[in-house]
Amino acid sequence: MQDKPVALVTGANQGIGLQIAKDLVAHGFTVLVGSRNLERGEAAAREVGREARAIQLDVTDQNSIVAAAKRIRSELGRLDVLVNNAAIAHTRSLPGMTVAEFSKSTRPSNVSLDEVRAVFETNVFGVVAITQALLPLLREAPAARIVNVSSGVGSLTRNSDPAYPSRSIFGPTYAASKTALNAMTVAMAIELESTGIKVNAACPGFTKTNLNNYEGTQTVEEGAREAVRLALLGPDGPTGTFSNADGPLPW
Ligand code: NAP
Repeated sequence: MQDKPVALVTGANQGIGLQIAKDLVAHGFTVLVGSRNLERGEAAAREVGREARAIQLDVTDQNSIVAAAKRIRSELGRLDVLVNNAAIAHTRSLPGMTVAEFSKSTRPSNVSLDEVRAVFETNVFGVVAITQALLPLLREAPAARIVNVSSGVGSLTRNSDPAYPSRSIFGPTYAASKTALNAMTVAMAIELESTGIKVNAACPGFTKTNLNNYEGTQTVEEGAREAVRLALLGPDGPTGTFSNADGPLPW
């Protein structure tokens, strides 16, 4: 087993995940750059530096998850931090479709159930599957941390307020998947409370990435900040929380 702490970031070949990988290396971790496409993961790992290794990981593929867990145990023998970052906004490309038009086609009354299932498969069930596969290793670590990269758009409290400006985009696919991810975060935190493993949800804020066709207003450095803070929590840090870089968010 190696001395340095080890972190796995899912979906780290681009965007906020790649930046989280860079930041965790800067904090002394060996980082496993999870990528469903190994070549893209290898390119990203080269960009992160010597302390990064690519690992093939499709969070919707149980064989890929099992193989990754085996490889982490055999090659590194430890896992201290798991950042569940991988997510999709939708399965369809949107040529010529505005965000408003797309939103109209994905209301609870007309959304394709296949679309809901696909988004939940990655953003919710994928997180549960990875966490289950890696918990045996995380339980062996002295102070393991799990960070679920969520979003403020999933906040039921905010979206229940008629004055909340982004309320009209709360829908049954991406936004609801982040609500469900928040529920999984609380459930995991409750189960793991007695172990010292802390499980928290981070919202990056509206960040310029592929997920939103690079329309976000923050840099990836800003977007990675809260997830990294939660990955580095000390023994007195909280568990079962939802926050962004400005502080706590309502569930
Ligand atoms: P991104 O650039 O699109 O990155 C998403 C990553 O997830 C990519 O590496 C993608 O891989 C990967 N991924 C998707 N499906 C996967 C699967 N089945 N298995 C493994 N990896 C998979 O988006 P991002 O903005 O950095 O998103 C990172 C996290 O931040 C997500 O959880 C997102 O919901 C959250 N977030 C983002 C914003 C924002 O404004 N950007 C706001 C709030 C929350 P490929 O490269 O192969 O597609």
